[in-house]
Amino acid sequence: MTQTCSKCNNTFDEKLVDDPGAQKYSSCPSCWNEWTTHAVMVINELRLDMSLPEHRKALKKQEKIFFGLEQGEQIQKNPDNP
Ligand SMILES: [Zn+2]
Repeated sequence: MTQTCSKCNNTFDEKLVDDPGAQKYSSCPSCWNEWTTHAVMVINELRLDMSLPEHRKALKKQEKIFFGLEQGEQIQKNPDNP
């Protein structure tokens, strides 16, 4: 079945997505890749410890912001060059 990516609005074959997280956001494989890369940056930037529930929650929030499900401040890699 074809789905529309909630991030880039491109259509993609859902058979290509095997990550449950990506399926939840109807994210295409390339945007999900982009998120996983972004997530590593977020973890480093916010010094998140994935063993702490509060920190996992903070990452989840960034995930929702990334896929446009929640309003909020997205962490920029280069804040001086948006
Ligand atoms: Zn996409």
